[in-house]
Amino acid sequence: MSETTIFSKIINGEIPCEKLHEDDHCIAFNDTSPQAPVHFLVIPKKTIVSLSECMQEDINLLGHLLFTGSKIAKSKYLSNWRTVINTGEESGQTVFHLHIHFLSGRKMNWPPG
Ligand code: 5GP
Repeated sequence: MSETTIFSKIINGEIPCEKLHEDDHCIAFNDTSPQAPVHFLVIPKKTIVSLSECMQEDINLLGHLLFTGSKIAKSKYLSNWRTVINTGEESGQTVFHLHIHFLSGRKMNWPPG
């Protein structure tokens, strides 16, 4: 399943974003509805609906997304952050293009709601 989402429009440059990073495989940008003082998303350029749709061939890409987000966080002098991947509607996924949330700048609660 591959549908056009708001994130594919961001990848294509059809809609703007506050871009933090871009390379051949991914793009990172600030979330428009931040849930913490720092809240950015790292998404693959490849159209993948969610983590559950990932294939064996995506293993390196998944590592790249996490490592890229970590580099961005460290470039902001952060040493504490939370990463979130919502998978499926009940988990809170609203955009059906794989993305990793990076949240920081406030105390996080556990368990998450
Ligand atoms: P989800 O709920 O699917 O895990 O996360 C989707 C995230 O995308 C939400 O945090 C939401 O605020 C963010 N978002 C939705 N539309 C846009 C947009 O057009 N631009 C940006 N930068 N973020 C968006």
